[in-house]
Amino acid sequence: MRQVKLLIIGSGPAAYTAAIYAARANLSPILFEGFYSGTAGGQLMSTTEVENFPGFPEGIDGPELIERCKKQALRFGTELISEDIESVDLSVFPFIAFTKSAQYQAKSIIIATGANAKRLDIPGTGDDEFWQRGVTACAVCDGAAPIFRNRPLFVIGGGDTAVEEALFLTKFGSKVYIVHRRNQLRASKIMQERILKHPKIEVIWDSEVIKVTGNASVEEVVIQNVLTADISIHKAGGLFFAIGHQPNTTFLQQQIQLHPNGYIKVSNGSHTNVKGVFAAGDVQDYQYRQAVTAAGSGCMAALDAERWLSEHEDDC
Ligand SMILES: Cc1cc2nc3c(=O)[nH]c(=O)nc-3n(C[C@H](O)[C@H](O)[C@H](O)COP(=O)(O)OP(=O)(O)OC[C@H]3O[C@@H](n4cnc5c(N)ncnc54)[C@H](O)[C@@H]3O)c2cc1C
Repeated sequence: MRQVKLLIIGSGPAAYTAAIYAARANLSPILFEGFYSGTAGGQLMSTTEVENFPGFPEGIDGPELIERCKKQALRFGTELISEDIESVDLSVFPFIAFTKSAQYQAKSIIIATGANAKRLDIPGTGDDEFWQRGVTACAVCDGAAPIFRNRPLFVIGGGDTAVEEALFLTKFGSKVYIVHRRNQLRASKIMQERILKHPKIEVIWDSEVIKVTGNASVEEVVIQNVLTADISIHKAGGLFFAIGHQPNTTFLQQQIQLHPNGYIKVSNGSHTNVKGVFAAGDVQDYQYRQAVTAAGSGCMAALDAERWLSEHEDDC
């Protein structure tokens, strides 16, 4: 079984930032970028322009930003393995991580496996259709793009996230519609009050988006009332999924404390409840979910791991 000081699981901005810091601190990190668990490189691989990551005044393509992070991590000696960590045993020390074909004994682990924005299988919203050409899952990330400006925007969802995204989008769209399957929102009372009296927001109740059409980008959404089956066609500049995220924690098999919503619980920086195991990025963050916050928490995890390893140099 191969022995390592620090194993990093994930390949988004959190994992690569942790790797850059750890490699520069001579911790010889091994980073598992994933294979079947999601697109290697993480969520930014599915976006085009990232305009809010500091240091790129002209913006940068998501995949290119990740490629640069990867190069920087490799430059300082990170070893990269293109496999998934399928399971871990955190009840022993050193910890054991299992891939399909091998086992690794690690004194410290950083979990940066991210989260996936949930999407619905609506015709027209697929990767080779209007995804990232007017259809997206992150209003804060994409809402300011020119294609959404002064055009009607549609948000799917009924919880706090949908309401927050709709409020944010009022800065850009001519009008914002929340399309909700029920006749009541799940969002908190205070958030509901804010949108129900907002002049630019309208809720389309008991309804579902059933199709998205357009040319270069989204131009129309087709909506069906679930009670009457009536169909209406609306001019649209964009469609935003706001139906939640799924943190990638299944492989942990409940060996780490999670919040009720499935995100990893951290305290005092990036510490999980298992000493020597740290978490960074969207897998532990259900609030901010941005590339720059993921990168920041990756830095914290590497510094926490470094400190922990120096205190446990002689263990095992
Ligand atoms: C469409 C879209 C557009 C966005 N645009 C922006 C933007 O403009 N600006 C911004 O700041 N943020 C943006 N975001 C949010 C940003 O992408 C995320 O906050 C950020 O990528 C989170 O980084 P992360 O490192 O936590 O993990 P992620 O990017 O989620 O990456 C984690 C990766 O780890 C790997 N992995 C998972 N499980 C395993 C396993 N068991 N073993 C090995 N590897 C595994 C997978 O490859 C997974 O994809 C956008 C998100 C989306 C969906």
